Amino acid sequence: MEKDSLRRFILANMQVRGEWIHLDATWQALLTNNDYPDVVKKILGEALAAVVLLSATVKYQGSLILQIKGSGAVHLLVVQADSDGSVRGLARYKDDVLSNLPVEPSLPDLLSEDAMMVITIQPNNGSKPYQGIVALNGDTMQACLQAYFEQSEQLATRLYLAADTSTCAGMLLQRLPEQADDKDGWNRATILADTLSEQDLLTWDHDMLLQRLYHEEQVTLFDRKEIRFQCTCSVARIEGAIQSLGEAEAQDIINQQGHIQVDCEFCNKDYRFDRVDIKRIFTPAAIKPFQNSTH
Ligand SMILES: [Zn+2]
Repeated sequence: MEKDSLRRFILANMQVRGEWIHLDATWQALLTNNDYPDVVKKILGEALAAVVLLSATVKYQGSLILQIKGSGAVHLLVVQADSDGSVRGLARYKDDVLSNLPVEPSLPDLLSEDAMMVITIQPNNGSKPYQGIVALNGDTMQACLQAYFEQSEQLATRLYLAADTSTCAGMLLQRLPEQADDKDGWNRATILADTLSEQDLLTWDHDMLLQRLYHEEQVTLFDRKEIRFQCTCSVARIEGAIQSLGEAEAQDIINQQGHIQVDCEFCNKDYRFDRVDIKRIFTPAAIKPFQNSTH
């Protein structure tokens, strides 16, 4: 079983492109930093699988971030996929609200009516980030993101997502713009894919999945892209965040607490800055013209 991988494939005669993702150790590493209830793991894992699938459809060098903010049971969710294959993510939830939800809550059950889902592409070269808003009209993460993919790429799209406590997985199909000789290709590709259960997605590797669904079709499978859990936090990024606080505010914290402590919420790493550090951070030479506020 190939793990922690993204694979692209083409169903040539059907004029369909696809992606398959399976995250195992990566997903478990991400979960060790927080003890989430199972319903939160499910939505976080589905979002993580989706963001990696989406990152493979756009040509970019940088980070692709999906963020949900609201006031519901899950009031914050962030997943990030970088073009080098590293991913990270976290969720914040309210235990008391979660405990009053149905056993298998829908996406609207988990989020509040005022929740916003935003996708940001942050290029590495410092150019302006691109942001798109995902309409929360569906009952599942899959439905909402499928509509977003379809709209943003102007291509018919099917998205399949699944997550449990040990694995998150997914598949994406997109109809290529060129006319297929096989007029029924897209229909057939999706009817077959619609037979996939969540369990199939979680337990089958790409060979088995493509064999079971498309053994009668021309399948081209591309090389594996390794996906791994790796936080993008760094001293430099945290220093940038402190710079954006402003020197007066940073000095205030130092005066009150003797140091500034920043814990990365994605990987639990602690960063500590004392008076000398703060002085150095705010020397004119240390302040860069472009400050990235994400750490
Ligand atoms: Zn971190």
